[in-house]
Formats: sequence, structure tokens, C-alpha cells
Amino acid sequence: MLQVKDIHTYYGESHALQGVSIELKAGETVCLLGRNGAGKSTTLKSIVGWTPARQGQILFKGKDITRLAPYQIARQGIGLVPEDRRVFASLTVKENLEVARYVRTGVTPKWSVERILDEYPMLAELANRDAGNLSGGQQQMLAVARSLMCEPELLLLDEPNEGLAPVIVKQIGALIDALRETTTILFTDQSVHFALQHAERAYILEKGRVVHSATSQDLK
Ligand code: ATP
Repeated sequence: MLQVKDIHTYYGESHALQGVSIELKAGETVCLLGRNGAGKSTTLKSIVGWTPARQGQILFKGKDITRLAPYQIARQGIGLVPEDRRVFASLTVKENLEVARYVRTGVTPKWSVERILDEYPMLAELANRDAGNLSGGQQQMLAVARSLMCEPELLLLDEPNEGLAPVIVKQIGALIDALRETTTILFTDQSVHFALQHAERAYILEKGRVVHSATSQDLK
């Protein structure tokens, strides 16, 4: 489904990704592990075109998306939940879901606002609250749910647990497990324990390079 081939990404002159290659098959859940500054976010941002790769190639379902604009990449079926979540603070939970709606031609929709509120009672209870007034964990649930409104085939989650209390981390883990049934997922994390629990495979990034790749079983 996704082939990232030897990409190099820069911030100005700073060479953040120095030849990253990763692959995901349809239906897999894979984690990118690494410390602060290893290049996890930059890898996801390069896939969605926010920080386009200067060299290398990114293929999604065989199509070259390396030079496409972010909105064009989103419309291929790739959803991103960024590290800072970016919920629309002055819109309600329900409105956040509604404005994100985009269904690609030829796709049978799986999700709707009603289904999301049905499956995630926590969001249903908050449906009319402004997103800016939610806790970090509630905003994270909303950000993931909002990404589903575009019916993604591939979902990228950037450090979904960052700054969240252990009880919320459990809920995010359960959410990932439920989505794994129908969606291909690439998420980033700094905790090997979370990765082993919720991903089949992991790549370990260090200083902008993949230094190890293994199944969760082997990593254990
Ligand atoms: P974190 O958990 O801190 O987000 P990360 O593994 O996601 O870590 P990246 O954010 O991808 O790492 O950062 C990779 C490298 O690129 C780091 O050296 C970082 O300092 C640098 N970098 C990231 N964003 C920028 C930016 N906007 N401008 C310049 N350098 C940046």
C-alpha cells in the first residue's frame, strides 16, 4: 500500500531525513519508534506533502505521490492526525466532524457523524462542546475521529499518546486496535511497550535514518 523509498527531507539546509525507506502492506499496523528529533514526524509529514522529500520516492498503491500537494495526497485516501492535533477550537465536536467530511469518488462511505457518535460515546457526550474546551485526551479522540470523516485507507497517527494520562493512553490503544480491523495504520511513538502491544512491526529511527526494523515479536 505504501512504499517510502530512500527519502531525504530538509528544513532549509538541515538534513532531517537521510535516506528513510519503509513499506506497509494493506491491513498492517506499523510503528515508527524513535527518540525526540529522530525524524518520526518528518517522515509522516513527508508522506503527506507538508515537508516534501527533496530526493527519493513515495508510492501509494503504486502511484507516485512524491510531488503532489498535501490536499491531493489527502484525496488519494491518506489521513494524518498531527502531533498537535489541530482541532478547530471554536467549533463544536460535531462541527469538527462535519467540516472534515470528504468522500472520494467510488468509495462506499463507512463513517458518518452519526456512526462516530454512536461508536464513541465519549464524543457523543461532548458533541455540542467547543473543541477548544476539551482535555488533551478528548481532543486526541476527536482528532482521530475527524480523520475518519475522509474515509482514509491509510491512517498516519503522530505520537497519539504524547502528554496523555495512562488511562487515556489505554483508550487510544483500544481505538487503534478497533481501527486496525479495517484500516492500514502507521503511527509514531517513543514507547516500545505501546508499539509492541498495538503494532505488528516497527521501524526504529535514529538521526534521520532507519537503524532497525523487526516484527513486534522479534523486538520483544
Ligand atoms: P519529536 O518527538 O520531537 O517530534 P521526531 O522523531 O518526530 O521527534 P522530527 O520532529 O521529525 O523528530 O525532527 C527531525 C529533525 O528535524 C530534528 O533534528 C528536528 O530538530 C528537525 N526539525 C523538525 N522540525 C523542524 C523545523 N520546523 N525546522 C527546523 N528543523 C526541524
